[in-house]
Amino acid sequence: MASAKILDGKALAATIRSEVAKGTAELAARDIVPGLAVVLVGDDPASQIYVRHKERAAKECGVRAIDYRRPANISQEELATLIAELNADAAVHGILVQLPLPKHLDATPILDAISPDKDVDGFHPDNIGRLAQGRPRFVAATPKGCMTLLEHAGIDIAGRNAVVVGRSNIVGKPMALLLTNANATVTLCHSRTKDLASHIANADIVVAAVGKVDAVLAKWLKPGAVVIDVGMNRNASGKLCGDLQFAEALEVASAVTPVPGGVGPMTIASLMQNVLLAAQALTSSAE
Ligand code: NDP
Repeated sequence: MASAKILDGKALAATIRSEVAKGTAELAARDIVPGLAVVLVGDDPASQIYVRHKERAAKECGVRAIDYRRPANISQEELATLIAELNADAAVHGILVQLPLPKHLDATPILDAISPDKDVDGFHPDNIGRLAQGRPRFVAATPKGCMTLLEHAGIDIAGRNAVVVGRSNIVGKPMALLLTNANATVTLCHSRTKDLASHIANADIVVAAVGKVDAVLAKWLKPGAVVIDVGMNRNASGKLCGDLQFAEALEVASAVTPVPGGVGPMTIASLMQNVLLAAQALTSSAE
């Protein structure tokens, strides 16, 4: 019989969006509308869907999403010029460059060029460095959403063993930093990790950010573990699923996030929190 609690990211994200809307209403009373520049290069179908979701959430939160769609053949220089313009634009408080960029473009200098004060995705080295030092400003939306899910569920983090599977700059590494800052003992696993199962067997908290079906098997879990599943995959029948062997894990874990309806909506809600924070910070220093 299934026993794990399912952590409802969809419901929590809706609560967060309404909190953000309250914050933007307070700014609106001072004639400030938080502006989020959404830069989308090319016509990647998945990116278009993500951008649509982000823009819908922005509207609900009282954030003005400003679309900057550019053709796939835009040059590195043209894109850098656009970022410079957005950095200088007082109506823009947050800048989001939807990834991945087309192959001829180098994302790193583009992300580095975003003003750290408008870096609502939290990918700028300044913001990653601040997180590493335990004095975060903007935290990448996906790991931030994972932490909010854990905290909201009342899950103890301090002193617990946490395993993060996946070490990308946008999910795994900042996740490991956040858990470290919250006083977990953190192991960061990746494709070169030997015997992933033995690491997971010791984990009170597992964050799976791999991008492969069944990357985390239920039989590896410590009984009572909490699993946050970031992965977004299609299974053999084309259904959206995470990295965790979900149905079987319900028998072993104490709490798990579903896919869909777990980390995905929390990512977008966390992005909106960052936009509000950026608008508050930029407009308070401007006064
Ligand atoms: P990346 O492909 O950038 O990183 C994947 C990581 O998984 C790498 O560090 C890789 O190791 C590691 N890995 C690959 N295979 C294994 C394995 N067999 N065992 C252990 N580790 C492995 O992906 P992202 O971090 O960008 O995304 C991860 C997943 O999360 C994807 O499914 C993505 O779609 C999803 N995602 C979901 C979001 C949401 O809002 N729900 C937001 C962002 C991502 P190595 O470094 O050695 O290559």
